[in-house]
Amino acid sequence: MKDLIESIINRVIKENQLGGQTAYRAPLLGYAQAGDPLFQQLKTAVGPGHLLPIDLLPEARTVLAFFLPFTKELVKSNREHPYVDRSWALAYIESNALISLCCEAIATALSVQGMKAAWQQPTHNFDPVQLCSHWSHKHVAYVCGLGEFGLHHMLITPSGCAGRFGSLVIDLPLSPSPRQTDQRCFFYAQGKCLACVKKCPSRALTQDGLDKQKCYSYLLEVDSFYSDLGVCDACGKCATCGPCAVIDG
Ligand code: SF4
Ligand code: SF4
Repeated sequence: MKDLIESIINRVIKENQLGGQTAYRAPLLGYAQAGDPLFQQLKTAVGPGHLLPIDLLPEARTVLAFFLPFTKELVKSNREHPYVDRSWALAYIESNALISLCCEAIATALSVQGMKAAWQQPTHNFDPVQLCSHWSHKHVAYVCGLGEFGLHHMLITPSGCAGRFGSLVIDLPLSPSPRQTDQRCFFYAQGKCLACVKKCPSRALTQDGLDKQKCYSYLLEVDSFYSDLGVCDACGKCATCGPCAVIDG
């Protein structure tokens, strides 16, 4: 079944690339048991309103998360652009659409075999005042063993942090993935780097934490700047400027 799910994601990416401009490296997938106690802990780590897998699907048995890593070229373009590169803003929009297509395709394939799946939209599923997500895909991906958090509050996978996450809850029991133990953030591992902090245009990110309100204000500014593209409250400077952006790519 894991092979089927992976092949569906690869097929949807391939089909979508015919119509979109964003390219991806090979997707990563991770799995966790729906009853993993870490999901309960997300109510503390993310916010009390964070949902449990059974809130999405009462018959939940497994949670699967996937990561679509961006290419080196896209990362470089956003890293070097004096503002947020248009291609980065577009990649955000296209990737969110692609993630929804992947989830729909997986759910359809499972339903043919009598199984159920449920998911939350790729973005904008958060409390607009507190800016706490009801279902944080990157935190879910952490539980599913896809990486460790860096100083920039992004999940650093074996392929880096520049990319987008999606996740689904399914009623089929599948073996969980081992949790990552490699610390790929140079600051946490060696006490140096801080590239993400230095490049944050809004100064929302510091060594001491992330001011989500400041960050989101900046993202809304980018959204206005690229208003012709659609909703693109994205910046990604912290995700593209450091050595954690692209790994093995
Ligand atoms: S997304 Fe942009 S504004 Fe927000 S923390 Fe990262 S670099 Fe700073
Ligand atoms: S840019 Fe450097 S300090 Fe920031 S998360 Fe990546 S490795 Fe850590």
